[in-house]
Amino acid sequence: MKKIAIMTSGGDAPGMNACIRALVRYGIYREYKVYGIERGYAGMISGDIFQMYPRSVSDIIQRGGTILKTARSLEFKEASVRAEAIENLRCRDIDNLIVIGGDGSFRGALTLHDEFGINVIGIPGTIDNDLGYTDLTLGFDTAVNTVLSAINNLRDTNAAHERVSIVEVMGRNCGDIALYSGLAGGCEYVLVPEIQTDFREVAQKVILSAKRGKTSNMIVFAEGAGNKQELIDTIKEATGKTPTVTTLGHIQRGGAPSMVDRVLAAKFATHAIDLLRKGEGAKAVGIKDYKIFSMDLDKALEVKKVVDAELYKMTQQLSL
Ligand code: ADP
Repeated sequence: MKKIAIMTSGGDAPGMNACIRALVRYGIYREYKVYGIERGYAGMISGDIFQMYPRSVSDIIQRGGTILKTARSLEFKEASVRAEAIENLRCRDIDNLIVIGGDGSFRGALTLHDEFGINVIGIPGTIDNDLGYTDLTLGFDTAVNTVLSAINNLRDTNAAHERVSIVEVMGRNCGDIALYSGLAGGCEYVLVPEIQTDFREVAQKVILSAKRGKTSNMIVFAEGAGNKQELIDTIKEATGKTPTVTTLGHIQRGGAPSMVDRVLAAKFATHAIDLLRKGEGAKAVGIKDYKIFSMDLDKALEVKKVVDAELYKMTQQLSL
């Protein structure tokens, strides 16, 4: 019987469990033996690998996090350590690997393909949505919905107190969480790492919107969008109002996955197993214009993530 190992790696994201469930069940349906590797590449090195069954993934579809756990393993970047790790697959006759993770996890998988001929499939799983080749990564939709729920609450109190409010969201290099939650949350300003913004412009907008009769303002600030204190000071100086700051932090990582992430998990998983059935190796699964597709893993890693300029413009046009 052919065998597949699956793992989650890098940052966790809601929907990873739904994807593990789908991989195990569809893998078994397609007559594979499915193995789980714990804590990503760290578990591959230490040999924490066990067979999974349909009941191993009961009651996890609705849970955030990952039952396989996840980790970052610096060691795995060393070729000699990878050679040891691969023995833990070889001794179990496993030559297929599906990795749910981000850019770094995909790079790790690619080395296993190039150096040892393992068939590897990458499933994009990260709340940041920072992989350029796919429109969506697992977990992004849920994270944005979590931010939106916070924004809804903040809007109530903002309106009551006529406040200027800053919501700090995750996104060191990629501003998608800020962009999508800012647009969907009807926020006045969205600050993302990819677009340099003069904070004085933001302050002027607050003043202008007050003249237009707007009594509260909500600014979504991605953590990599610049110096937060400078933004606070600039607004305070120009408007006389001290903005309140809400940092959402790791709340954005957890929670029950949304319908979008659960369906995406099922589609990514079945597509990944079908690629292995066809004997494909080194592919990345993604979604483009609502269609699931796959492409060579090395090519996928070369696609640069760009911010959606149209969407960014929309946030400005809709916040008069
Ligand atoms: P993400 O997958 O979310 O981007 P990381 O960048 O932390 O997370 O990568 C996860 C793990 O993948 C790393 O801890 C490391 O074990 C492995 N990895 C990352 N880059 C490489 C690489 N260039 N070669 C081999 N392994 C890598």
